[in-house]
Amino acid sequence: MTHALNRATTANYHHLDQDDQAEFDRYMERADNAATNGEYLAHMVIAARIAGINLPYGGHIRLCACSCSCPTIFNPDHPDAHCIEQTPDYNLDRHQCPTCADWHRETA
Ligand SMILES: [Zn+2]
Ligand SMILES: [Zn+2]
Repeated sequence: MTHALNRATTANYHHLDQDDQAEFDRYMERADNAATNGEYLAHMVIAARIAGINLPYGGHIRLCACSCSCPTIFNPDHPDAHCIEQTPDYNLDRHQCPTCADWHRETA
């Protein structure tokens, strides 16, 4: 087994500069509105890369949708992440990051 680089799996939206935040928002919105799963997944990878997360194709990221305005960008497949609400008409359902789910779990 090779030594894996210490790759970030979460990021802080506030640590991105303004241009990166705008780019990140743009790709998250494209992912949200993508017509096909392939398109959605491609936008996920790009948005993750902008945030500094190395996401393999097929992975997902979300900006925490918690009402505390949490800036955490994280993988919604994390076992401690919590889905607040499914949004059937969009690709991005609303998730709380593991920390928020632990501290103040929300339901839709
Ligand atoms: Zn959070
Ligand atoms: Zn929160």
